[in-house]
Amino acid sequence: MTVFPPLASADLAAHDALLTIDLDALAVNYGRYRALAVGADVAGVVKANAYGLGLAPVARALAREGCRTFFVANVHEGEKLRAALPGTTIYTLNGLTEEAAKICARFDLRPCLGSLRDVDILAHLAKSLSRTLPAALHFDTGLSRLGFDRTETAKLIADKTLLNGIDVSLVMSHLARSDEPDEALNGLQLSRFKAIRAAFPDVPASLANSAGVLLARDYAFDLVRPGFAIYGGTPVDGRVSPVLPVLKAEARVLHIRDIEAGDSAGYNSTWTAKAPARLAILAVGYADGYPRVLSSDKNAGRVWLGGHYAPVAGRVSMDLLIVDVSHIPVGAFQCGDMAELIGPHVTLDEMAAKAKTNGYEVLTRLGERYKRHYTGKAATAES
Ligand SMILES: *Cc1c(COP(=O)(O)O)cnc(C)c1O
Repeated sequence: MTVFPPLASADLAAHDALLTIDLDALAVNYGRYRALAVGADVAGVVKANAYGLGLAPVARALAREGCRTFFVANVHEGEKLRAALPGTTIYTLNGLTEEAAKICARFDLRPCLGSLRDVDILAHLAKSLSRTLPAALHFDTGLSRLGFDRTETAKLIADKTLLNGIDVSLVMSHLARSDEPDEALNGLQLSRFKAIRAAFPDVPASLANSAGVLLARDYAFDLVRPGFAIYGGTPVDGRVSPVLPVLKAEARVLHIRDIEAGDSAGYNSTWTAKAPARLAILAVGYADGYPRVLSSDKNAGRVWLGGHYAPVAGRVSMDLLIVDVSHIPVGAFQCGDMAELIGPHVTLDEMAAKAKTNGYEVLTRLGERYKRHYTGKAATAES
């Protein structure tokens, strides 16, 4: 019988694609947002696996900084977070179905109710359980996505008995253009929200996401909900960011090969060497969330390797990336070294701009194949 000796998956050398998440930087960013939000509470928005960085380690690191309120998208994320963090307040953003309401009651999750249908579902459940159930009321003030519309808002304010059985612990809305500080819609949403919250004077209120906090103190109310900025994202394009980078993404050099002038590289031969060239093959592809649009026939990406930039050569494939290292001195890097995909030299902003998307999408597409590795004081508890 073959016996396989245990190979610690914690052994980083056994992984070819690595995300290093700096929990100290995360803690600094959380603290900066607390300072920016002057006196308002700062929630942790940890939906989508904490924007790809890992739900439990990220949420626990925030909790260590004093974060007591969290937002996730749905009840499944909520259930996972509840297991990682008993005793905290967890809101689920995505409204309600009857099944979801039962899961909320069972795992002590607070749904954000955004329609009279949601209210009805929760009120019915509360009645059948003979207890009150906590929830947030989410009002639409300009995004036309989730949240009570004008008519429903008016109905709810006129008849609070609709909320019988529901313990309203938060009133909230969400900004559509907070990353465009000069847009008039921001001020309009603020004044609409002020009017709504006046109808619920004893309930804490929340409006601002990462960029919203930067608009003005007025937008912070009692609780702010930053996600992206806490993870090191630049909340407003082109403005100096108030936060530190949190993430480094790297892929291992699996192979180095020399090719001749006229040889092409990658699927569909979209890249051809004009002179003898050297290529490095990296262990990352679009299946890991490396954007295929960074292929060299589109909007060529670049990596940082051996102290130099290396541009993508040919098409990004599912599991592999070819980069041109012809100009990098021999010996500057070796097979087995790691190339930086996102980090201090290739920023999240650069990658997002080249991929014609935002940093949020780049982060949340970082795939399951990456080994997520945590550093910083809070990391010892996670490894
Ligand atoms: C995602 C989300 C946030 C966090 O937004 P960031 O821009 O990442 O700070 C806040 N509120 C709601 C309702 C959200 O959906």
